[in-house]
Amino acid sequence: MKAISLLGSTGSIGTQTLDIVTHHPDEFRIVGLASGRNVELLAQQIRQFQPQIVAICDADKLSELKDAIADVEPQPIVLAGEEGVIEVARYADADVVVTGIVGCAGLLPTIAAIEAGKDIALANKETLIAGGPVVLPLIQKHGIKLLPADSEHSAIFQCLQGVPAKGLRRVLLTASGGAFRDLPVEQLSQVTVADALKHPNWSMGRKITIDSATLMNKGLEVIEAHFLFGVDYDQIAIVIHPQSIIHSMIELQDTSVLAQLGWADMRLPLLYALSYPERIYTDWEPLDLVKVGSLTFREPDHQKYPCMQLAYAAGRAGGCMPAVLNAANEQAVALFLDEKIQFLDIPRLIEQTCDRYHSQNRSTPTLDDILEADRWARQEVLTATSPSMLPVG
Ligand code: MG
Repeated sequence: MKAISLLGSTGSIGTQTLDIVTHHPDEFRIVGLASGRNVELLAQQIRQFQPQIVAICDADKLSELKDAIADVEPQPIVLAGEEGVIEVARYADADVVVTGIVGCAGLLPTIAAIEAGKDIALANKETLIAGGPVVLPLIQKHGIKLLPADSEHSAIFQCLQGVPAKGLRRVLLTASGGAFRDLPVEQLSQVTVADALKHPNWSMGRKITIDSATLMNKGLEVIEAHFLFGVDYDQIAIVIHPQSIIHSMIELQDTSVLAQLGWADMRLPLLYALSYPERIYTDWEPLDLVKVGSLTFREPDHQKYPCMQLAYAAGRAGGCMPAVLNAANEQAVALFLDEKIQFLDIPRLIEQTCDRYHSQNRSTPTLDDILEADRWARQEVLTATSPSMLPVG
């Protein structure tokens, strides 16, 4: 039985992971839970899964959490703050850590888990995008497995099983096209937060759903694929596939193409990341291609969605630039969700921030370089959008 520490337990990835654990009690058990600030749901999860260690990232909620689980026996170790999340990530009894934390906030806990020798089910792409140059050597050094839980990367990983090292020619990332795929480009300037949060196929958290609407999610996944599979940017292509049935494909040296198919259900890549290399029986609805009817494909529209090209450019620049791109995106998306900026300000702010980043962009940055680039880019976006920067009159 695999023992799991789950980071981000009350979010979309967290609750879907717990659904898997609930239905496969002979395969998985929860030893650690960490969440942001949702005390009520975390307390309920503690009662149900009886972890040995828990953490709430918002330290102001610690006493509320302790009160909410005062009658739970046996009491878990209860911690707070980023330090607490890191303790859950490296907890001795865990075999695998599921990283469901949103954004670059997942970087330090993930590094702590790798250094403690844990396998990682990676549901936090920002960690690898910002921290790739630091995270990859650590994975080598500690000999752990980094198992992708992102649906596209899980698909590529599944297709790669049995492919010899030099057999891969290209990666073909599929994209649903996001909330505005059928909206004329002229109308993008007027879309609201509520519009952007309506994803046509996938049920996911708020940040990633906005990233899907701008197609930055696909751009970030290009960088993620580069780090995970060691493919050059020229070998990674994006194809729009509105049905989200093919989760991605690989093209081999002989032009043969392998694809992984399934319903758009995040539990499937999560389960494979947890069960790898085994295949576990589930009672989920099997894919019915007759019911799907047709699978269609089209070119991505780079005029309408500049974020993809921004991500390719940042990936090719290397060093800290992917961290700058990622941080600018996180900050811009947060401002959009707070209704402080417009939808089209998101790519504009990211491009402006990447253009202004001229710091010594070393090809092998340290963790401190990456954290500093992340901090700088967030501040850059905040400064560019502060009221004093807006045109007068
Ligand atoms: Mg994905």
